[in-house]
Amino acid sequence: MPQVHVAISAGANGIGRGLAEAFIQAGAQVAVCDVDDVALAEFKDTHPEPIAMRTDVGDPEQVDDFFDRIETNFGRLDILINNAGIAGPTARLENVSVVDWQDTINIDLNSFFYCSRRAIPLIRKSGQGSIVNIASNAAFFGFPLRSPYAASKWGVIGLTKTLAMELGPENIRVNAICPGSVEGPRIDGVISRDAEARGLSIEAVTREYKSQASMRCFVSNEDIISMVTFLTSDAGRRISGQAIGLDGHTEGLSLGLER
Ligand code: NAD
Repeated sequence: MPQVHVAISAGANGIGRGLAEAFIQAGAQVAVCDVDDVALAEFKDTHPEPIAMRTDVGDPEQVDDFFDRIETNFGRLDILINNAGIAGPTARLENVSVVDWQDTINIDLNSFFYCSRRAIPLIRKSGQGSIVNIASNAAFFGFPLRSPYAASKWGVIGLTKTLAMELGPENIRVNAICPGSVEGPRIDGVISRDAEARGLSIEAVTREYKSQASMRCFVSNEDIISMVTFLTSDAGRRISGQAIGLDGHTEGLSLGLER
């Protein structure tokens, strides 16, 4: 079995870190980038082999440097996981600043373009491959108070479906995973900002978030690792162009507005 080469944007923490460690454990050559120097250093201490490079994925020149390094070290790629994402502001659209709007779109959508355009020629060298875009259940609904986040995640689905059409004939698959709230520090921060903005307790907002899903749950990093592993494996070889909800069936995102 030839060695699998994987690139992960924003792989030093959270979902990206979990994915990087799962692929390393499975014997893949992994390259991660991130802007969190402390987490990158800690990652390098634990895993000296993979590429772990400081890269702001919102800056196309830095993204180019990351993929140049991948090309030099790996020669090719089999899997790209576009994972970078910030929560963006929690505010009504008319109160969102231009800078916050641009930053959110830049990291949550533009970075997927910057990384994909450089990864595609390297995946083509493998003769087959898979791109997985980490979107969100916010790609299926309007999301009051989170307009830049929702707009970028809807954009990611458009990018996914279009790229799947462009690359399908070359046996390169492109899918998006749309998680609901993932247990961990990121959602803790989102909930606490939302609670503060609306003068509610953290417990009340947590209950509200969970009640958005038919299964009344958050999802875990392990759920996402299982789905990415499946999609990028031979078992997923006929799945492309899909936006897969991984969210206990979200019924709607009606947060933050008085009804
Ligand atoms: P996280 O905050 O735990 O990790 C995000 C990582 O991105 C951090 O390591 C951070 O340093 C890095 N990062 C931020 N800006 C960057 C930049 N400009 N360049 C490079 N790296 C940068 O977040 P997470 O929960 O692991 O989220 C990963 C993805 O999953 C995001 O796209 C997010 O929108 C999506 N998602 C998360 C949840 C959730 O509840 N956590 C739910 C749905 C979708």
